[in-house]
Amino acid sequence: MIQIDKEKCIGCGICLPYCPMGAIHQDDVASIDQDECVECGVCIRAGMCPVDAFTREASPYPRSVRAVFSDPTSVHAGTGIAGRGTEEMKTNEVTGRFKLGFVGVGIEFGRPGIGTRFHDVQTVAEAVAKVGAEFEAKNPVTQLMKDTKTGKFKDEILNEKAMSAIIECLVPIEKLKELLSAVQEAAKHIDTVFSIECITRVAPDDTLPFDEILTEMGITRRINGKTNVGLGRPLAEGDAN
Ligand code: SF4
Ligand code: SF4
Repeated sequence: MIQIDKEKCIGCGICLPYCPMGAIHQDDVASIDQDECVECGVCIRAGMCPVDAFTREASPYPRSVRAVFSDPTSVHAGTGIAGRGTEEMKTNEVTGRFKLGFVGVGIEFGRPGIGTRFHDVQTVAEAVAKVGAEFEAKNPVTQLMKDTKTGKFKDEILNEKAMSAIIECLVPIEKLKELLSAVQEAAKHIDTVFSIECITRVAPDDTLPFDEILTEMGITRRINGKTNVGLGRPLAEGDAN
């Protein structure tokens, strides 16, 4: 938990704009709204307090998930890397996780200033699970689930808050429309923002296999998506698709 030593604080207010969640408030001295603080560590790393009033102690579980999902210097036990998702989301050409005929779907919840509670992530995860999507086992959010068939999370983390969290899952392309429709419906019941990324291989005729589905649903694909040109393919050798 990150706290402000009231005996040290001189109430200068310098720290307030540093907090990306607006969790630092000031009367005579500054204090942190612990329910809103996501333990991102910005206030500590910025080193701006003239009297060094910020203190940090490791939070016990379940509060510990806040830093894991919000502090970019925290390493996830499941992925072995810092960050919110697995590396393969951006390096499919190396690992070949997403094969032709399938779409990897990433759903990125929260942003600085908004964040996300895990009960909102669960609402969307349950919708995704009903479609039959397969959650990525190494993804940090998947590892918070008590049942990957239903998308239900461990009860104790539902009200924890993070700056951001990413669901990663895989569906056959013929299920993509159903999945996106389910997510659109679930979005009506949550109190945060999210963006969706779809990952697939370019078809032999150079088209994107899911473009037709997005057009049919009235969804405009952003043109600044990431493209991997295939330099890593030798490592996925033997993968016929
Ligand atoms: S910067 Fe330090 S001294 Fe100034 S209000 Fe914040 S905690 Fe208090
Ligand atoms: S750890 Fe992050 S969210 Fe919490 S008070 Fe510091 S800057 Fe704000």
